[in-house]
Amino acid sequence: MKTVIHWFRRDLRVSDNVALSEAAKRAETFIPLFIFEDAFRTGPDVGAARLGFLLQSVESLRKNLAELGHKLIIRSGKSEEILPKLAKEIGAQAVFANKRYEPYTQKRDERITKALLDVGVGFELFKDAVIWEEAEILNLAGKPYTVFTPYSKAWKAKAIPLPKAKLKNSNTQPHAPNIPADTLPAATDALGHPLTQTIPPGGERAALELLRKFMAGPVYDYSATRNFPAIDGGSNLSPHLRAGTIGVRTILAELKKARELATPPQAASCDVFLNELIWREFYTQVLHNFPHVTKGAFRPEYDQLKWSDNQEHFAAWCEGRTGFPIVDAAMRCLNATGTMHNRLRMIVAMFLTKDLLINWQSGERYFMKQLVDGDLAANNGGWQWSAGTGTDAAPYFRIFNPVSQAEKFDAEGKFVRRWIPELKDFSDDLIQQPWENPLLLSKSKYAQRIVLHDEQRVKCLAMFKAVK
Ligand SMILES: Cc1cc2nc3c(=O)[nH]c(=O)nc-3n(C[C@H](O)[C@H](O)[C@H](O)COP(=O)(O)OP(=O)(O)OC[C@H]3O[C@@H](n4cnc5c(N)ncnc54)[C@H](O)[C@@H]3O)c2cc1C
Repeated sequence: MKTVIHWFRRDLRVSDNVALSEAAKRAETFIPLFIFEDAFRTGPDVGAARLGFLLQSVESLRKNLAELGHKLIIRSGKSEEILPKLAKEIGAQAVFANKRYEPYTQKRDERITKALLDVGVGFELFKDAVIWEEAEILNLAGKPYTVFTPYSKAWKAKAIPLPKAKLKNSNTQPHAPNIPADTLPAATDALGHPLTQTIPPGGERAALELLRKFMAGPVYDYSATRNFPAIDGGSNLSPHLRAGTIGVRTILAELKKARELATPPQAASCDVFLNELIWREFYTQVLHNFPHVTKGAFRPEYDQLKWSDNQEHFAAWCEGRTGFPIVDAAMRCLNATGTMHNRLRMIVAMFLTKDLLINWQSGERYFMKQLVDGDLAANNGGWQWSAGTGTDAAPYFRIFNPVSQAEKFDAEGKFVRRWIPELKDFSDDLIQQPWENPLLLSKSKYAQRIVLHDEQRVKCLAMFKAVK
């Protein structure tokens, strides 16, 4: 093909990028394009943290492409209108992009296919964000899996593809002449979303650096440390996997290398990390195969649950003043950084749904607004798991006790102390249940408990039993 547009979406990188490698291989000239969609600014889930991470990552992509002799063309508006217009202007024969799996993007891609076809331009989509997609892993009955363990076994039985090579310097891939390119604002304020959170750095280099550091040691302790928020034993790669500033094949290739050097317990730790990456793919295929999860419970009978509409409780949960230190510390951390440890996500999600009896969809929406890694598939899966309404969900009668969770995973209260300075005078054995010292609690100015766990547990069981 003579000219192809590579449309960067959630694949903001020059290495291990399937559609980009195909464009560079098959086209005499390819044009790298990023479209700043109107919805990035106006959509219902837009949050400053994710927007800030996106702006940083696009800027990093622009620089990385420039170093390789390519100019990133930036346009703002609606992709459905911009793509056919630009393709005609520059005489492109095709647009290449990597596939996305959210129901709304798939519908949009169908409309784009048609709009491009109308002007005689092809639209090719490639599998890139996951190793196995859509219907590539099915059970013996030919149906998608709804339980993780058999899915992960089937996933592991297939050979993992190698990373794609990094884009070559444009000496071997001449760039098309002068196409005007917009610029993007450096900060989210200009887009009407002031960034008040301190977010991690975006971009491909930051992602590769995190990966290098994680594989150089922490991955070997991952199974022992990953549940303890004060240690933060995870890779912290989720915002990068979400923005596509790293390719999943690259992570898996590095994991394989690390595993080859590992002792048997270290190899087992590498396998636990692999499982988490497979959870990501599990939820991506759930989203694709059961798109109704975006609108309600995976098990429709749970759409009948009579949730509480207590807005004061919801506000206390959002703002980190429920009186349960582990919940409040986690929510304050989310509000300040756009990130939250996986164990804490489970604790606060269980607390919202099973202690406050508030619909998981309210929590899902709040997370999407705050999280720098907010991803429809993983977030929806995590919320439905915690609420007990989803695929492979924790059964509804498994209800986390926020105090015992905290005493297990933040025994000395290190994480809680970091986020709740009001509790500084409490000893380790009382910091997770400050109400046990009412005098000190009233002096501390920290919140009183808004509910009693044991009472709410009974109400929750009754609420679920009513629809069983
Ligand atoms: C209520 C709730 C909401 C969540 N919302 C999101 C979200 O919006 N975006 C998101 O990426 N993850 C979400 N998760 C999953 C998980 O909490 C994060 O992926 C993890 O905390 C990211 O930290 P990390 O990169 O250090 O992960 P690591 O422990 O290093 O894991 C490696 C990668 O595996 C993937 N992963 C790990 N755990 C899960 C999981 N349970 N489900 C799906 N993928 C997983 C992530 O891409 C992660 O970066 C949610 C979990 C819960 C319980």
